[in-house]
Amino acid sequence: MSISSRATSLTPSLTLSTDSKAKAMKAEGIDVCGFAAGEPDFDTPEHIKAAAIDAINKGYTKYTPSSGIPELRQAIAEKFAADNQIEYKPSQVIVSNGAKQSCFNAILATCEPGDEVLIPSPYWLSYPEMVRIAGADPIFVQTREQNSWKMTAEEFENAMTPRTKMVILNSPGNPTGSAYSREELEKIVEVAAEEDILILSDEIYEKLVYDDTVHVSVASLSPEAYKLAITINGFSKAYAMTGWRLGYLGAPEPIAKAIDSIQSHSTSNPCSFSQYGGLAALRGDQQAVADMREEFLLRRDYMYDRLSKISQITAVKPRGAFYILANISRLSLTSQNFADRLLSKANVAVVPGAAFGDDRTIRFSYATSLDIIKKGMDRFEDFCRTV
Ligand code: PMP
Repeated sequence: MSISSRATSLTPSLTLSTDSKAKAMKAEGIDVCGFAAGEPDFDTPEHIKAAAIDAINKGYTKYTPSSGIPELRQAIAEKFAADNQIEYKPSQVIVSNGAKQSCFNAILATCEPGDEVLIPSPYWLSYPEMVRIAGADPIFVQTREQNSWKMTAEEFENAMTPRTKMVILNSPGNPTGSAYSREELEKIVEVAAEEDILILSDEIYEKLVYDDTVHVSVASLSPEAYKLAITINGFSKAYAMTGWRLGYLGAPEPIAKAIDSIQSHSTSNPCSFSQYGGLAALRGDQQAVADMREEFLLRRDYMYDRLSKISQITAVKPRGAFYILANISRLSLTSQNFADRLLSKANVAVVPGAAFGDDRTIRFSYATSLDIIKKGMDRFEDFCRTV
């Protein structure tokens, strides 16, 4: 069997081995505290479910325009204006099967062999693979824990070459939980604008920010930023809709058009009735979003407090999303070894940082109940004493 070089160049997901082991242990009846999840543990709000069920009953079960139903693109354009201070016309908005497809489409529409795409590391594990599928080269920009794992404009500038086509920003970020300030983003945009470097701004965790953190959208910063940015967002995290597969982007018109073409020849439209759910999510009551954020905040505070008292590790207090990245380098184990031992000895599942490009770290997700977090932190504390 001959497999394409495009497919063989991909790295198999490192998260899967720990995750499948944890699942197998659970199936055997072992009480595993799972902190590996990348999705909210909440149920999708009722009014969103009702809208999708209603859409099915009304017969909205056929193909839609490939870029999404006009009502939803309009609602997203209004959302961008109201929440993000970005003026996108509905024609600049493309709805896809998850923000993951939006990112993939955006990279495929703009990057090609010979291009370099800068990715601050640690990173969300799909970015480099998407870049590779497009035939371009991912170039990692190592960030520092002392700077909350955020790329500075200087680090960005130093990593640039004549081949740099795009930089990927993810604020609030997975796996770091970091959020860039307006000033930090302005400086990065300034550097990007000098060389016309596109900015893929993945803002999927926008609604999950804590303390005095204000989410800032790259495209809102200046006319230059608007021209260079592709703004990614979606329903998975804010509305607990991961299984609905619904995400979207806003981009300059020529990029949106190219993405529309790509999508029309690959997956066609996103699921018809999911789109009606998405419409209800944007147009309906936002209380559920606020309630979920409130609950995530309690969990973050509790988990961070416990982790910060463990002398063998360090962790930056996250400003957003639902992850804490812990530095385990003092314990002299690879992240995979650490995660394997933690699972087999203490029944605690985390994701090894090697999956995100940083073998000195492990990622905890707090998208699980406070009871499980309390139990898991007790176990983790004991484990760190004995490792
Ligand atoms: N971007 C980031 C940073 C993510 O963490 C995720 C989900 N893990 C996605 C995009 C994809 O989300 P979706 O479910 O909308 O495809």
